[in-house]
Amino acid sequence: MMRSSTNLSHRRSSTPIMNIPAHPAEVQISPEQRQTTIENIKQLLQDQNATLVAHYYTDPEIQALAEATGGCVADSLEMARFGANADAEMVVVAGVRFMGETAKILSPEKKVLMPTLEATCSLDLGCPIDAFSAFCDDHPDRTVVVYANTSAAVKARADWVVTSSIALDVVEHLSDQDQKILWAPDRYLGAYVAEQTGADVLLWDGACVVHEEFKAQGIRDLKQVYPEAKVLVHPESPSAVVALADVVGSTSQLINAVELLDAETFIVATDRGIFYKMAQRAPGKRLLEAPTAGSGATCKSCAHCPWMAMNNLPLLEKGLITQDQEILVPKDLAERALKPLQRMLNFNR
Ligand code: SF4
Repeated sequence: MMRSSTNLSHRRSSTPIMNIPAHPAEVQISPEQRQTTIENIKQLLQDQNATLVAHYYTDPEIQALAEATGGCVADSLEMARFGANADAEMVVVAGVRFMGETAKILSPEKKVLMPTLEATCSLDLGCPIDAFSAFCDDHPDRTVVVYANTSAAVKARADWVVTSSIALDVVEHLSDQDQKILWAPDRYLGAYVAEQTGADVLLWDGACVVHEEFKAQGIRDLKQVYPEAKVLVHPESPSAVVALADVVGSTSQLINAVELLDAETFIVATDRGIFYKMAQRAPGKRLLEAPTAGSGATCKSCAHCPWMAMNNLPLLEKGLITQDQEILVPKDLAERALKPLQRMLNFNR
């Protein structure tokens, strides 16, 4: 892998002012009601020949329900793959909107529902298609590589879609062919990819509201208390945080690291929803949330995505009954977005 200095450009986008929702209040239902809701959801899934796919960042009870009903808990790419391969007429996506869209693009014949269509992502919101398309038009000499956390329209404008698990390999492959890259939307992940591959990368200026909040000094302080801890960092985090990592990787790669590394304590810089799967795969290991803005932290500065937190049991049950939270992607758009997605799925290195 090339690790030469990068030819990194940076562009301030016309990112819209974003309304970040407050975390939804915890659902107040009795244990009996909760159990009844879970049983109802199981029955509704079965009656409607539906499969539930959940992201690692959703709440533990949603992930547990996906597992208990034969669905899957995974990263966005595996969620879409699972939905496409499932012998089901309906895919219920517990995650955020771009994940529902990706599932629909890969499974156009299936009905795709979400607990709420309001669950979105700051990276998706921060990369509106008109401004992004103009940015691409301004740089026709560059290969357009977009992260999975984008709308179907942005994917349709791209040459490649990548997830964090294969971003390095794809960009290195393109750079080896002397291609210059236009990267969107996450500037931290883009800068990390550029630095690791030595590729010539022009960045869109987006960020994840969760990962951007991790603080290097907080991690250093925590290491004073737990000097033996390994630091695991998702590359959507700022470079000062990435620099402290023992392992930098995608959600799946970080889960594997907890299981495989010979360590008992981990400081984890990604959404705390991932602790469910980490604890399941490596029981007994100590998992510590990497510090964000510290005391007084708001929704903008904690280790849990406010949009992922919208996925809860009552909305899931309601969505299965009303079926009014359906993901629809126009056919021509889906066909164009499928091409760069398919390129990623076919990519082998
Ligand atoms: S954690 Fe960040 S990247 Fe993931 S859905 Fe939430 S805002 Fe988007």
